[in-house]
Amino acid sequence: MPDRIYNFAAGPAALPLSVLEEAQSEFTNINDSGMSLLEMSHRSQPVESIMSEAESDIREVGNIPENYHILFLQGGASQQFSMVPMNLLSSDGHAEHIVTGHFAKLAYQDAQKIGDIHLAASTEEDKFSRIPTADEYKLDPAADYVHITTNNTIFGTEWKTIPKTGDVPLVADTSSNMFSKPIDIQDYGLIYAGAQKNLGAAGVTLVIIREDLLKRSPDILPSMFNYNQHVKSKSAYNTPPVFGIYILGLVIKWLKGQGGLKNMDRINTQKASLIYDVIDSTDFYRGHATKSDRSNMNVTFNLPTSDLEAKFADSAASHGMVEIKGHRSVGGIRASIYNAFPIEGVERLTDFMKAFEKSHG
Ligand code: PMP
Repeated sequence: MPDRIYNFAAGPAALPLSVLEEAQSEFTNINDSGMSLLEMSHRSQPVESIMSEAESDIREVGNIPENYHILFLQGGASQQFSMVPMNLLSSDGHAEHIVTGHFAKLAYQDAQKIGDIHLAASTEEDKFSRIPTADEYKLDPAADYVHITTNNTIFGTEWKTIPKTGDVPLVADTSSNMFSKPIDIQDYGLIYAGAQKNLGAAGVTLVIIREDLLKRSPDILPSMFNYNQHVKSKSAYNTPPVFGIYILGLVIKWLKGQGGLKNMDRINTQKASLIYDVIDSTDFYRGHATKSDRSNMNVTFNLPTSDLEAKFADSAASHGMVEIKGHRSVGGIRASIYNAFPIEGVERLTDFMKAFEKSHG
């Protein structure tokens, strides 16, 4: 077995090697404290400074102003599916969801259990191969908020231009393209992302919420589901996922070292284009996503038969490329190439795709 392999997993996903090595080097003794971070009280000064440094690095990288709060929560992105309506829906109000994939649909279904949720648009009929165009939905200016999923991990589509919602707050699940490109947070009322794709390890969810929305949270909410409580407690109402926040902090520092979001976007576009160019050069590979909506994070495609797809995935593994099978619900092939996935791995894949077509096409 090679020491490191090209891991195309959709999440948990490849992390920067330098981050893993840094965490390893201070695993048993962090900052000369004589103990592991895993053994330290979350109320201790070193942990508080790890958390506040992660927050300030996020503010710097994402250009997040002070009227947005940064929270490190648990329960995954999935918990946000219900926490958002619990906090942001008014008792007689409604929200609108645009459903563009599996997780967008789960978010819609969970929110319906909490209150009145309207379906503004869905592309399920087209097997979630595209993002709806602006003329396909009409957003109600009286809605409490609009919810979208900025990148659809399973289907490989990504919003290129987010909907204009005027005074209605836009809420977004950004789990699978968070910080893969510049983001203007002022376009959003709230965003959330599970960390295990672009931000670090599973177990911590980044939530960024605009100050004025906090007054919506009803007092009757249990504390753990109330954004206000988490803001007041600086994400330490209970024991936070300290190690996950630490890894996230290291990943954000690595991101700064990559030249920030603009440069990351340039690299991500370059990586994705290499694969899309191979797909577009032949009929052997067929991209799942409509070209204009293609994701830079999850590249999804099919081969002529499912047998060939299975063979492709097996053979890729024997060439040092793993986790490239499409999601079990849709099949096909999916190459997840988040920020930390190296361009050398993408080049290995495109070489392999060309050779595989030659021998099986
Ligand atoms: N939203 C999106 C877009 C996702 O890709 C995923 C996980 N793959 C989720 C939500 C669910 O995230 P979690 O496992 O953190 O709850």
